[in-house]
Amino acid sequence: MSCQYMAAFGSSLLRSSITFGVLSPLKRPNSIPLFQSSFQHPVRQCARRAMSRVSATHDDEAAARAAATEANSGAPTIFDKIISKEIPSTIVYEDEKVLAFRDINPQAPVHVLVIPKFRDGLTELGKAEPRHEDILGHLLHASKIVAEKEGIVDGFRVVINSGATACQSVYHLHLHVLGGRQMKWPPG
Ligand code: AMP
Repeated sequence: MSCQYMAAFGSSLLRSSITFGVLSPLKRPNSIPLFQSSFQHPVRQCARRAMSRVSATHDDEAAARAAATEANSGAPTIFDKIISKEIPSTIVYEDEKVLAFRDINPQAPVHVLVIPKFRDGLTELGKAEPRHEDILGHLLHASKIVAEKEGIVDGFRVVINSGATACQSVYHLHLHVLGGRQMKWPPG
């Protein structure tokens, strides 16, 4: 399977949408993001493939899967340091359960990440269990609050990349809230 798409669903009844898959191929920077390891992460290799529109090889896909397995070890991520304020971020919304801050590599005029403060095993959406229903609903509602605060509630997109095939790069569940420009469909 290529890195272009994993799966997607949306609602034609709503101007906003929820997408599970990857953002634009232009999403990924060539450089390693701040505060992240200089190790050439297989998932990032996956993103590079998307940028160059070259199909993934079986070897690359296996490497990305191995990286995801390691990432799901439960080790702290860069988002834990953002929650603890150890590293700076531009916070746009916060309550007792979630934190929303601007993405360091924005893919739209508004690009905010919404994360649970307590990860509770939610390294990725694919790890969700029934006990997570409350926080998952809370994250979606917080995304709507962010959209309101950012002035894009009339039309915005919420994206969750889940797992190596979707080129997820930070293993702490996060919702991308994107808006401020015309979105395309299907995403890519
Ligand atoms: P994903 O690829 O879906 O796992 O998304 C991870 C997102 O985290 C990317 O869009 C990155 O740009 C973003 N990111 C990584 N490091 C930081 C940081 N220090 N502050 C804000 N956003 C970050």
